Amino acid sequence: MKVHVNSQICAGFGICLGAAPEIFELHDDGYAIVRVSEVKPEDEDAVRRAAFQCPSQAITISEDSSG
Ligand code: SF4
Repeated sequence: MKVHVNSQICAGFGICLGAAPEIFELHDDGYAIVRVSEVKPEDEDAVRRAAFQCPSQAITISEDSSG
């Protein structure tokens, strides 16, 4: 699984950081960035939760892990 944050949409609420601190961090400019290129299986639930909870729907999940 891959995950992407659209920095144009992200409003910096930081909810994703709370849901999946291993995956997201807050950029100095106030939007979230993704720390990993590939989400580990044990973190996938947290990433889905973050995407679901994001008020701006700025988080995009790609289930394709083959490349
Ligand atoms: S929850 Fe959404 S809007 Fe908030 S920081 Fe994360 S990606 Fe941005």
